[in-house]
Amino acid sequence: MSSAGRRPFIAGNWKMHKTVGEAVALVRELAGMVSGVGETVEVAVAPPFTAIQPVAQALAGTRIGVAGQNCHWEASGAFTGEVSAPMLKEAGCRYVILGHSERRQFFGETDESVNRRLKAALANGLVPIVCVGETLAEREAGRTLEVVSRQVRGGLAGFDAAQVGGMVIAYEPVWAIGTGRTATSAQAQEVHAAVRALLAELAGGDTAARVRIQYGGSVKPDNAAELLGQPDVDGALVGGASLKASDFAAILRAAR
Ligand code: PEP
Repeated sequence: MSSAGRRPFIAGNWKMHKTVGEAVALVRELAGMVSGVGETVEVAVAPPFTAIQPVAQALAGTRIGVAGQNCHWEASGAFTGEVSAPMLKEAGCRYVILGHSERRQFFGETDESVNRRLKAALANGLVPIVCVGETLAEREAGRTLEVVSRQVRGGLAGFDAAQVGGMVIAYEPVWAIGTGRTATSAQAQEVHAAVRALLAELAGGDTAARVRIQYGGSVKPDNAAELLGQPDVDGALVGGASLKASDFAAILRAAR
């Protein structure tokens, strides 16, 4: 628990990795390793869509939740290649990642489409993990806080305080994702504090104090404790290191 009472939340984003068989084997290994950690730290994994239901079944009775990696704003329809929030919910998801930088970069996601997906997630009882973060060029141009603020304002437009209070934000500098290059703890804290101040402006101080803000970008067992030790860093969204049970479990221990 942080000094502000926020329970740390660590989520593993598996991206387009793991067949059904590999996914089930990984969560079985993980469940055995994290049984003692789950009480103090909230934990989730985000497998590819094909593995969501078998992973959810394998994790039944554990404290590890399941997340989708994206959802569409409509419940059903002619949207080839998409998956809807009620489908994720029925398959066993408690959470959904929205607006990941790979979705923005390769699949045309915008703040506006993230906003629409977010509405569907909340309407279907999924906890959204809303990703924001600047590119290297934007950081070097001194535009980090401007870009992140625009993404938060655009993504969260039109939601009331109760709805914002049910969200998780993930600050993921694009230049740190999958690169092995991590933001320093001071860089992360600066942006997290700015995001929390913006949430206070949008939804009030009490809500802002409740919202968990995860850091993501090359989080590993050897840098997790330093990043998670920052006052406004309430957890991590972990890519590469979540594909190895021992590394993910070590990050959970650092969060505890
Ligand atoms: C991610 O995909 O959200 C991520 C942070 O990836 P990695 O940990 O591999 O940088």
